[in-house]
Amino acid sequence: MQKTFRDPDFDVAVQQRGVGPAPGKVTPTQRLPAPSVQRSSPAGATGPRSQLPSLADFTNDPWMDAAHRGVVPSAPVDDAPTAANPAPGAVQFAKKKPSTTVANKGKIGKTDLRGIVGKYQAGTTLMCTLNGVTIGKFSATGGKHAEARLIHWLNNNWDKLVEDGTVKQKDNRFVVRLTRSPCGAKDADCGGKLRAFIKSKTDEGYGFREPRIAIASMYRKNLDSSRNSLRKLKSSGTKLETWDIEQEMADDAPHLNVDSINGLSAEELEELNTKRDDMQMELDELDEEKSDDEKSDDDEND
Ligand SMILES: [Zn+2]
Repeated sequence: MQKTFRDPDFDVAVQQRGVGPAPGKVTPTQRLPAPSVQRSSPAGATGPRSQLPSLADFTNDPWMDAAHRGVVPSAPVDDAPTAANPAPGAVQFAKKKPSTTVANKGKIGKTDLRGIVGKYQAGTTLMCTLNGVTIGKFSATGGKHAEARLIHWLNNNWDKLVEDGTVKQKDNRFVVRLTRSPCGAKDADCGGKLRAFIKSKTDEGYGFREPRIAIASMYRKNLDSSRNSLRKLKSSGTKLETWDIEQEMADDAPHLNVDSINGLSAEELEELNTKRDDMQMELDELDEEKSDDEKSDDDEND
């Protein structure tokens, strides 16, 4: 009757991390292999990525890790734990109940990825998490950019997120994964909208630990404006990273559709990774721009 989201691999990870004793008799030698992602990676399609930050670099904390491993977000929303019926594993580990306030259950799929490989036609898609809770996927539709739709939803649901404990008073970890970098003032200024959103919540008294935006490809329309958008986000204190989708899928991220890489052709996958490398170069160049107060933030990690 009691529904649990326990997963042996997860328990071992908890045990090894020393967060708390893992229940049961699970020992590292009994560790089950993590669910593997069977991808037929065509030769030469995978670019170098040793320098790229992996998801673990910015979700290296127990709660996010729990979410990352599917302990919470993989539950269908209808079955999601509630205050009345908490998931024992998740609550014990995270010391708070997972949010039931989510925008949607959508996952990043091959259609979203095909928006950035091949032709630049489909709109941007994003995936947002707040304190490790998957808020949901937002895509550009009806002329409204994905970022604007996310912010609209967050503003309308903020009180609920506060109520159910997803949003805290301070140290909120706001992570947005974007298939394409936020546009600048020459377009809809999604970068400015993201900054304004963070500032408005800060003004209302909510603290952010370090908002993070992980980006899979550079928005090349009005390139200078797009670059400026990133520059301003960075100097406002937002951490910008390259979103290595292939790597994240190999890590079995529960909030993404792991089949979507399988759905891409070898050519598309190669292009996806070329865009990823290009994004990394853009961010590297931004890092190299000499700015005294930005430099000290570079080696920050949590
Ligand atoms: Zn935009």
